[in-house]
Amino acid sequence: MTETAAPSAADADTVRGEVEAFCDDKWDPDLTVEQWWRLLAEAGYAHPMLPPSVGGLGYGQDQAALVSLVLAERGVLGPPGGLGRMLAAPTIAIHGTPEQTERFVPEILDGRVGWCQLFSEPNAGSDLASLQCRAERDGDEWVITGQKVWTSGGQVSDKGMLLARTDPDLPKHAGISWFAFDMDQPGVEVRPLTEMTGRALFNEVFIDEARVADSALIGGLNNGWRVGNTTLMVERASLGSSGRKPPEAIPGPKGGALHLRAGEFVRPSGASSMSGVPPLGVDMWWWLVDLARKNGSIAGKVLRDDLMRLYGLIEINRLSIQRAKAGGGRAREARERSEQGAGDRASAAAPNIAKLTMSELNRSFRDIGMRIVGADGMLMGDSDSQTGGHIGEVALFSPAPSIYGGTDQVQRNIIGERVLGLPREPGPPRDTPFSQLPKN
Ligand SMILES: Cc1cc2nc3c(=O)[nH]c(=O)nc-3n(C[C@H](O)[C@H](O)[C@H](O)COP(=O)(O)OP(=O)(O)OC[C@H]3O[C@@H](n4cnc5c(N)ncnc54)[C@H](O)[C@@H]3O)c2cc1C
Repeated sequence: MTETAAPSAADADTVRGEVEAFCDDKWDPDLTVEQWWRLLAEAGYAHPMLPPSVGGLGYGQDQAALVSLVLAERGVLGPPGGLGRMLAAPTIAIHGTPEQTERFVPEILDGRVGWCQLFSEPNAGSDLASLQCRAERDGDEWVITGQKVWTSGGQVSDKGMLLARTDPDLPKHAGISWFAFDMDQPGVEVRPLTEMTGRALFNEVFIDEARVADSALIGGLNNGWRVGNTTLMVERASLGSSGRKPPEAIPGPKGGALHLRAGEFVRPSGASSMSGVPPLGVDMWWWLVDLARKNGSIAGKVLRDDLMRLYGLIEINRLSIQRAKAGGGRAREARERSEQGAGDRASAAAPNIAKLTMSELNRSFRDIGMRIVGADGMLMGDSDSQTGGHIGEVALFSPAPSIYGGTDQVQRNIIGERVLGLPREPGPPRDTPFSQLPKN
């Protein structure tokens, strides 16, 4: 995947004009979701940051964010939601062979296939390299056995980004491989886990001698830690960004959206129909200010102070993301230079700082929102709440961003150890074979 420089003002005008013209010409709320997604994919707007050879436009993050913004402003349905487009497509575009890229990426970009991320296990979350799900070779296939957990969207996914241990006698980071795994096959059981929002966003996945072809091993045998790190870097960068986005629908046949009218998914608030969580950012800040004006709580000096502090945090987040982009998104290289005592440490830490700031934003919106709406913040859903249940949603979901994609503590460890050069946590030598490590 190519990195491109931030666009000039003229580039931004061109991008805006082209997306607006596309929407004016092609959007029709009576199209099916499948038809609309095909048009978006053909135009390169499903994932504009991918190179043109892989179905994108080679855009930088600024340009891609502008595409999202214009789609949201035009009130159209956005490209397929979920983790396939966000994580699997860019990972396969970087590490897959041309044949694998051609096989897997187009059906992600036009939403025909939905993906989940089969990384975390009961004893391998923060310490992901401790994963024990095993893959054993059987001819030109691999036999997979193990358990995954916290698998977002697993119940509606057709494929999974599977990390499995292909060689337990190698050191723990070295014996892992990344597979494009079929969810619909004997030996795969998906059990939804209901979280405190009342929804079942994620699942446990039990895998008992399921199969995956060797041709679906992405990035080479025992190279899965490197490939998985690409997935995680893309995830952190995506989770740290807070620009306005169009509404989404769940891809793939199990998502149930493909044959519905695209117009059904367009909501005036721009809220995602997948998570139900309203977008956090300046728009929501103004929404809170309006609420505080209407119910008179804006008169409180402490609340006004805190609202301004929140505004400052939103700005800091925006500037941190710009800094990450100014480094061309090359945080890993900056980190390597920084580990050698050279280079710009702030650039190296930019994705981690952006993710930490996003966790803090979630908590601040929760706390300030609750103070403004009071008891109404306990209501969920549109029916009873005078504020559409938004604050209740934000409050109940607020712990999640500080956990998924690597917890806040893990982000701080990365900044401390790999960017600031603090001593690493004690543990067995890194070259100890996984089979000889103590297991929980
Ligand atoms: C909403 C949501 C969606 C998710 N979706 C997916 C998904 O689709 N696919 C997937 O694979 N996973 C997913 N996850 C899992 C997520 O990546 C893990 O929950 C996360 O990595 C933490 O792992 P854990 O839950 O096992 O906690 P643990 O790793 O057990 O951590 C428990 C606590 O200990 C702290 N801790 C652990 N190690 C250290 C350390 N070395 N130093 C300091 N503190 C430490 C952690 O910060 C945390 O507070 C999701 C999680 C959430 C909340």
